[in-house]
Amino acid sequence: MSLKIYNTLSREKELFSPIEEGLVGMYVCGPTVYSDVHLGNCRTFISFDVIYRYLKYLGYKVRYVRNITDAGHLEGDRDLGDDKFTKKAKLEKLEPMEIVQKYTLGFHDVMRIFNTLPPSIEPTATGHITEQIKMAEQIIANGYAYVVDGTVYFDVEKYNKEKPYGILTNRKLEDLLEGTRDLGGQDEKRGRLDFALWIKAKPEHLMQWPSPWGMGFPGWHIECSAMSEKYLGKKFDIHGGGMDLAATHHTNEIAQNQACYKTSPANIWMHTNMLTVNGARMSKSAGNGFYRVSYLQATIRC
Ligand SMILES: [Zn+2]
Repeated sequence: MSLKIYNTLSREKELFSPIEEGLVGMYVCGPTVYSDVHLGNCRTFISFDVIYRYLKYLGYKVRYVRNITDAGHLEGDRDLGDDKFTKKAKLEKLEPMEIVQKYTLGFHDVMRIFNTLPPSIEPTATGHITEQIKMAEQIIANGYAYVVDGTVYFDVEKYNKEKPYGILTNRKLEDLLEGTRDLGGQDEKRGRLDFALWIKAKPEHLMQWPSPWGMGFPGWHIECSAMSEKYLGKKFDIHGGGMDLAATHHTNEIAQNQACYKTSPANIWMHTNMLTVNGARMSKSAGNGFYRVSYLQATIRC
């Protein structure tokens, strides 16, 4: 049976043909486990569960990797704001790993309620610090990243001279630069679009690891590049995630992989649309999320 998949990268429906006959490698960006998942988050994972089941139904042997982001995700997608885990840990007076454990279990509970299948591998960012450091080192060695006072930045403008940075969402670098704030000489980054592969930790930062550049923690984007390569290889079939990840997170993943391994990670990029409430995107920050009513609350209400 032939299968056609809409590929964000080509903006076309393509006939699916796996790299290795009978096998499919699929990576999907998983949750950042610092708070409860709402229905909008679940939508992505339910969609990919249907895709996973359908690929299996077609007779493919599927390796489905979906990560858990348990470090390195700052409030802004472009290295701005506090680390989500440290902030929540201070707020709830818990260890960051208690936050991670609490919301990982909560996520799994919700996924069970929706009867989704667990992925084949569910790697965590904190479990792959070494791989992320190695990848950042290689990108520096290849000339696409630089170190400023313990933080490693990816040089987007240099990379774009050789490969189109905005390839996934079909945008030119000039347009992207126009939409980004001017550094005004205040920022240590060389270019406005440069993003961190490794971030220097302040002494009070609760989650930090030794690296060749001092104590720090990985940037958010590098974890998916490092873990997809580890479990699916330098080139695999499908990379998925919510549509909101395409413009920055997935764009940066492609740039990192190209800069490190000289190849884009996936043949097909699949993105699920956003769940909306009265026309607005469901998001934690908008306060319009639908959450699972906990067992305790449900019991009290009864
Ligand atoms: Zn990811």
